[in-house]
Amino acid sequence: MRVHRKLVPQKIPLLIYVKAPSHYVLIICVKRADKPHPYQSKVKEEQMFCYQCEQTAKGEGCTRIGACGKQEDVAALQDLLIHIVKELSRIAAEGRTVNVTDAQINRFTCKAIFSTLTNVDFDPGRFVELIGEAVAKRDELRARVSAAGGSLPHADGMIRIPPGATQEELITKGESVGLKSDSSVDPDILSLRELLIYGIKGVAAYADHAAILGREDEEVYAFIHSAMAATLDSHLTVDKYLNLVLECGRINLKTMELLDAANTGTYGHPVPTVVPLGVKKGKAILVSGHDLKDLEEVLRQSEGKGIYVYTHGEMLPCHGYPALKKYSHFYGHYGTAWQNQAREFDAFPGAILMTTNCIQKPRDSYSDRIFTTGLVGWPGVTHIGDGDFAPVIQKALELPGFPEDREEKTVTVGFAGNAVLSVADAIIEAVKSGTIRHFFLVGGCDGAKPGRDYYTKFVEQAPRDSVILTLACGKFRFFDKDLGEIGGIPRLIDIGQCNDAYSAVKIAAALAEAFDCTVNDLPLSVILSWYEQKACAILLTLLYLGVENIRLGPSLPAFVSPNVLNVLVEKFGILPIDTPENDLEAILG
Ligand code: SF4
Ligand code: SF4
Repeated sequence: MRVHRKLVPQKIPLLIYVKAPSHYVLIICVKRADKPHPYQSKVKEEQMFCYQCEQTAKGEGCTRIGACGKQEDVAALQDLLIHIVKELSRIAAEGRTVNVTDAQINRFTCKAIFSTLTNVDFDPGRFVELIGEAVAKRDELRARVSAAGGSLPHADGMIRIPPGATQEELITKGESVGLKSDSSVDPDILSLRELLIYGIKGVAAYADHAAILGREDEEVYAFIHSAMAATLDSHLTVDKYLNLVLECGRINLKTMELLDAANTGTYGHPVPTVVPLGVKKGKAILVSGHDLKDLEEVLRQSEGKGIYVYTHGEMLPCHGYPALKKYSHFYGHYGTAWQNQAREFDAFPGAILMTTNCIQKPRDSYSDRIFTTGLVGWPGVTHIGDGDFAPVIQKALELPGFPEDREEKTVTVGFAGNAVLSVADAIIEAVKSGTIRHFFLVGGCDGAKPGRDYYTKFVEQAPRDSVILTLACGKFRFFDKDLGEIGGIPRLIDIGQCNDAYSAVKIAAALAEAFDCTVNDLPLSVILSWYEQKACAILLTLLYLGVENIRLGPSLPAFVSPNVLNVLVEKFGILPIDTPENDLEAILG
């Protein structure tokens, strides 16, 4: 038996992994690091505080400017918006008890929350508008709920925003309700509260995507409102927060199912499709982000205009949808994950459309040919708010486009739930015969940190009798590698976007049913890379489903306090990633 020591980021306890011959069996927390939880190390000159994503400064928190580029004014406006949405949620939750529900408020709640996800909206002016709308909706709903007999004892303590408040006044208000505005909050409560809020942010994002395609669910909205309201309750205990966190995982599963139905109901079930990574001579539009409806509109509106449309980042899996791939000018995929966009957009000789996350500060070289739509925004970048992409098309026609065809590799996408389950018999037979020894779900977000090459190396070193299932933008670390096949089954199976995580759950559940066992008993290991809050929601879903021994990296969330981490380790066996060699040896023995 060997003993491995590893000190994961400073605020995490010292973990000792005791390694048995075939797998890690015990994790003992023996020492809490001396360094206080970031929330406790309050620094007077801090201008903002945000630690919601993996690239947070020093692994602790962004305090002057976001590592993502978020400025302190936007940070304060986001804090204010989230606070008002909590108040709105408290009224909406009470409204449900007296039969007052409002479809517009449901939709607005999700949009407002989604706007505050990492790398979505950096435009202070848009947040001023959202705050104004949130206050108006909150006050109007308060009157209706009160008239219907609802009890609103907290309503008089709601934050007051005078009509016509300036941006500076809103920023000052935002600073008064930010994460560090109340230093008396217990660090573990704060940790769970933020974990819940970040999970809700992911749910809100998925719910918004589904609603755009006409799929909504009252239970999802009711949970978002009641859980956001709960975060205002200073008496909520650790146990109640833990329950809410797992409930968030359940609701996220339901929301992902809703989104899966929305995507496949609108565009058909993805089918395996070969996508060129090269380019075609001619005018070009590049569509990035996650929104299928925006891509469809661009394809429809640009049809017959002599323009080729390319996907970037998380749009890659869209090539597999029958109702999208039918467009003959929907050519191929250009570039990789979000953090490489500045270099890739710079080199793209056409117009660029950014739908939803993840946008980065545009370089001057392409700031006049990048457009935003939906919730995404960057100050000074032209925003298309009405679904009319004529300015994008016009810009593409003005630009030179690609001077000649360029042949490159191809990749195959379209292995979502239905496509994989249609060959389930072959997969099951391959497992039974021992031809497939293990499945690795290597999925999640990509990012700029050097430690993320773990995922590339892991996939490269995975034995040839294993299959890699992948999804989300983390796959761009290895998406174009030729891993070969096992008896006609590709060794690299791209399930889709982060928005398609439901397909991965469906596949795992179907395998478990076929082998009459639990997901934890399958020859399947989950290796997650996280970056932003959709990944938080997916992690909570996996915890709700009881999936154990998830390996999480490249670093653990700064917002997880040592005690909360202990719970996650003890209850769910969550492990920080080690080295690919050690992890593969631990998993496979
Ligand atoms: S979203 Fe991430 S990078 Fe941006 S300010 Fe927050 S923690 Fe920092
Ligand atoms: S998976 Fe996450 S980090 Fe990657 S593009 Fe999607 S939202 Fe952004």
